[in-house]
Amino acid sequence: MDAQPSGDLRLEGVTRTYEAFTAVDHLDLTIPRGSFFALLGPSGCGKTTTLRMVAGLEQPSEGTISIGARDITDTKAYQRNVNTVFQNYALFPHLNILDNVAFGLRRRRDGEWKAKAVAALDLVELAHTAGKKPGQLSGGMQQRVALARAIVNRPDVLLLDEPLGALDLKLRRQMQIELKRIQQEVGLTFVHVTHDQEEAMTMADTIAVMNGGRLEQVGDPATLYERPRSTFVANFLGQSNLLRARLTGLRGDHAEVDVHGIPLRLSRAQVPEGADGVWLGIRPEKLRLVGGDTPGLNVLPGEVTDVSFTGVATHYLVRMPWGQELTLVQQNDGSARAGLGETVRLGWEPSQAFSLDVAQDAHAGEDHEEVV
Ligand code: ATP
Repeated sequence: MDAQPSGDLRLEGVTRTYEAFTAVDHLDLTIPRGSFFALLGPSGCGKTTTLRMVAGLEQPSEGTISIGARDITDTKAYQRNVNTVFQNYALFPHLNILDNVAFGLRRRRDGEWKAKAVAALDLVELAHTAGKKPGQLSGGMQQRVALARAIVNRPDVLLLDEPLGALDLKLRRQMQIELKRIQQEVGLTFVHVTHDQEEAMTMADTIAVMNGGRLEQVGDPATLYERPRSTFVANFLGQSNLLRARLTGLRGDHAEVDVHGIPLRLSRAQVPEGADGVWLGIRPEKLRLVGGDTPGLNVLPGEVTDVSFTGVATHYLVRMPWGQELTLVQQNDGSARAGLGETVRLGWEPSQAFSLDVAQDAHAGEDHEEVV
């Protein structure tokens, strides 16, 4: 089931204002044809508005939207080859599953409606439910039917608006893998809106992190995670320990920094030209409990103030001499453990840290709601 050639989805200077309020602010985005793209951000950042403008349900106040060479900014929603899958599956309850999937094809009098609908149902592994009614299927199955119904139209772009939001955690995880498999199989462009960073990272080739109607950073999941360019991305995508560091010298590949009187090292490439201070960022799983000799590692002393066992890992909070608490996540792989109140040393490879502009708010992006 190959997609018809269409083209990249391109947003140029797309802005949406509601009276004095700017929901989406001069967005420039190119979403390559056939990619799985996620728009990620906290509630109210403008991702749904962006999606609705691509769908044609909302008109940009400024800017243009195009697919390939076609400018679709002023094209009516039903004339765009764009389909949306919403969180509430919106299946027709009185039609059976096959007729639900075939609905659009039959309206367009597609002579091959049956074969195409069966193939789409096959793709979501639900061919055996063709004769059932939506009410007889589970939530996850209904969502797969909604997906089949959208895919069968071979849209240039398939928009997914928090499509897994109504499912429980386990089913969500299964569906994430399933959705990714389906996208790879059909090769259509998927644009997925979510506020769940883990969901975005699991599925998308490219993630655009949005904040306050603007783009914070666009990149593949690993780059966003390992090399965030703002404190917002560092905190919103996973967790980060941010330490205020003062630059004291440069030696070979390393920059020498002072963190509350303790000398540490950072990769020189991480320090912007001319900076005299940075936020030194280190992810919780890059920290480890160290003893004895630690050549080449950065080491900080501290006291364990919390230990939480989560099954695969143990999360520690460790208070630094200057009062800040750092988070350390240790896989439960048999390595040495520490107890509450114990004095420990945290170590990490200098190359595993990143640095950020010290003028940024260290707590930006921290207050997003946790997804259950
Ligand atoms: P959520 O995850 O909660 O859906 P979101 O990132 O999708 O959030 P949008 O729905 O795009 O955010 O909304 C962005 C901002 O625009 C919000 O502050 C919202 O209140 C505002 N907004 C959206 N639609 C309208 C409207 N019709 N009139 C006025 N303000 C609106």
